[in-house]
Amino acid sequence: MTVRRTPVDLVDPHGRTVRDLRISVTDRCNFRCTYCMPEEGMVWLDRTELLTYDEIERIARIAVGHFGIDSIRLTGGEPTVRAHLPRLIEGLAALRLADGTKVDLALTTNGATLRNVAGELRAAGLDRINVSLDSLRPDRFLAITRRDELANVLEGIVEAKRAGFDPVKVNAVIERGTNDDEILDLARWGRGIGVEVRFIEFMPLDATNEWERAKVVSQAEIVSTIDEVFPLEQVPARGAAPADRWRYRDGAGTIGVIPSVTHPFCGDCDRVRLTSDGQFRTCLFATDEFDLKGPMRRGASDDELAGIIESAVGTKWAGHQIGKIEFVRPSRSMSQIGG
Ligand code: SAM
Ligand code: SF4
Repeated sequence: MTVRRTPVDLVDPHGRTVRDLRISVTDRCNFRCTYCMPEEGMVWLDRTELLTYDEIERIARIAVGHFGIDSIRLTGGEPTVRAHLPRLIEGLAALRLADGTKVDLALTTNGATLRNVAGELRAAGLDRINVSLDSLRPDRFLAITRRDELANVLEGIVEAKRAGFDPVKVNAVIERGTNDDEILDLARWGRGIGVEVRFIEFMPLDATNEWERAKVVSQAEIVSTIDEVFPLEQVPARGAAPADRWRYRDGAGTIGVIPSVTHPFCGDCDRVRLTSDGQFRTCLFATDEFDLKGPMRRGASDDELAGIIESAVGTKWAGHQIGKIEFVRPSRSMSQIGG
């Protein structure tokens, strides 16, 4: 579906142009990762609170058509637990920019069911996939995710490659005292099977409020740990991408690091977010949200919804304040916002 209007750039007060929309399709999840959710007691949104697929597609169409947003990532919670996800992907994959280009469509998943759905997601029009995997040891994987699913996730990664996703990227959150002794094993494994492992610094977005600065393993430490054994050279300029990237000097692929705490990429941030209950956010750490669902359900026009998006982007801050005294945790945790 080509959107026939001339888009205007959505530029925030700090001169950054928004290009990327992260859409959470559900707050629910089949895992309970310790750095994200408590074991029990998460309160889920009522299903009537969730945007329908038609509503999500409408907001995405406005983002693409009015503002030339050219990249959409589906996340959650766990996006694959929402029924009929390929239907949403088909709808979003049909979106075209004014010049006829397809919008880049990506998904972040814990991979538990990927072995069964990778082909279907690919066939529906998904371009890229990131799978989360923090440990290669079954007992530790179980301790982190509270689910005995390592074998299925590993199978899912192989199946995603077989389905044609290239590259498959793997996200690993590194937490001091939990899995920081596996940095090298994860890197070695990624080299071996040809996936880019992206190491993520632990962020203060866990639902149980256990984040401490001392649990953050820095980008510098991650890179030097790998470099000592597998020499690395940095890939220049990440632009608006959150990951800094390094390539192995022996040509065996690349790694990424998302240094949200020690080297935030806020200066180049080009993204905005839509929660599963239709709240528009201009930062993962934002403390304000802008309601799109209410106005949409009360009959707002596309131009009115675009106006809300524009006003929201007008409030986007220069950057988050993790580690500083003024930092205020957002009232929602990662899975409720959409990581
Ligand atoms: N359920 C999917 C998954 O785990 O890939 C998608 C949603 S999850 C919230 C998105 C990403 O956020 C995952 O890669 C996860 O590891 C990461 N994440 C969750 N909590 C985090 C935290 N406190 N700090 C850093 N990354 C976190
Ligand atoms: Fe679920 Fe992803 Fe959060 Fe783990 S990180 S609990 S898989 S939403």
